[in-house]
Amino acid sequence: MSELEKIDKDYVLSSYARDYTNFVKGRGAKLYDENNQEYIDFASGIGVSSVGHANPKLSRAICEQASSLIHISNLQVIEPQAILAKRVVELSGYDMRCFFANSGAEANEAGLKIARKYGERNFDSKRYKVITLKHSFHGRTITTVKATGQKEMHKADFSPYPDGFAYVDSIDAIYEAIDDKCVAVMIELVQGEGGVEPFDKAEIQELAKFLRSKDLLLIVDEVQTGVYRTGKFLASNLYEIEPDIITLAKGLGGGVPIGVAMTRLKDIFQAGDHGSTFGGNYLSTRAGLTVLEILESEAQSEALTQRIELFSNYLDKISNSLPEYFTKSVGVGLMRGLRCVDSQIQSAILKEAFRQKLILLKAGRNTVRFLPPLTITKDEIDEGFKRFEKALALL
Ligand SMILES: *Cc1c(COP(=O)(O)O)cnc(C)c1O
Repeated sequence: MSELEKIDKDYVLSSYARDYTNFVKGRGAKLYDENNQEYIDFASGIGVSSVGHANPKLSRAICEQASSLIHISNLQVIEPQAILAKRVVELSGYDMRCFFANSGAEANEAGLKIARKYGERNFDSKRYKVITLKHSFHGRTITTVKATGQKEMHKADFSPYPDGFAYVDSIDAIYEAIDDKCVAVMIELVQGEGGVEPFDKAEIQELAKFLRSKDLLLIVDEVQTGVYRTGKFLASNLYEIEPDIITLAKGLGGGVPIGVAMTRLKDIFQAGDHGSTFGGNYLSTRAGLTVLEILESEAQSEALTQRIELFSNYLDKISNSLPEYFTKSVGVGLMRGLRCVDSQIQSAILKEAFRQKLILLKAGRNTVRFLPPLTITKDEIDEGFKRFEKALALL
């Protein structure tokens, strides 16, 4: 056991099944460990390092910001926060306002508070129930873990959980689950942790229309799908719907913690309704602005589209040629997966890929997940798949 592993195990609570390779630097989609071994990163720290590691433009902006002002408080106006809110709203194409938090769970928590207040104020009798889907993932706080529709995540160890959530198996089943206590439906358009599962566009559009006709809210959790991960700025743009509440986090700060809940209920909060000490501070919002600048130009120049095409071609080809391992290639944009025949194959692939110095993720019980940096180069994609094919040959 390395000295580092020993310190980690002695002093850090063991809530993760952790690998002990010690990465010391990164560049683009490459990571280097302490022995200077090079890895290709097809995971981006679970969809976070959207502009790659040590992106020069992002590091420069962060350093500059850190040397002038990192944090004051939300009792003062914060220039990059206001400007980031404006940029996020403009890029989304929706008429909304933003609340800034520090993580996906916190963004969802804010979204749920917005829905609760709407349910309290807008109906003759209080509505508070939020319907979510089986296989969804919405976070790890006591409330967002309860919002998560995977029953095995509602461990008795952490009970009691807050009331007000109901779970259904499919988009179709949402309609029947709506009762007079229901105020909102919360979904991911492409389920991430649940197994890279995109929903049908027409079904989602119909749901959005139905909810609007009943004055019920649609909350779209875009913590993983947002900020160009699907090729569009938001998955909601790809699905051509107008949600009431959208949450963002992972890719927005390029690694600096940030979360956003945005809503078309522009006047829902009054002073004192919600808050966050760190949320939207100078450092994280300056990072967010820089990430958006970088990714917007990637999207406009078609560079992102070309990467998505190349990546999909590799995955489709591999999936088709190895039916003994894979049932299909799934996902959209650079949020992709290979559905494996079973969970043993899934874990064998992840293990062998890592031995070949390729970092992948799992999703659900049988999906190998790919969330590369959105700025990944052609060479990095080619090299990553070379290693992936080698790993598959060695299974
Ligand atoms: C990762 C994720 C979250 C939780 O985000 P944290 O930053 O870990 O709190 C919530 N929803 C979705 C869809 C996610 O992928």
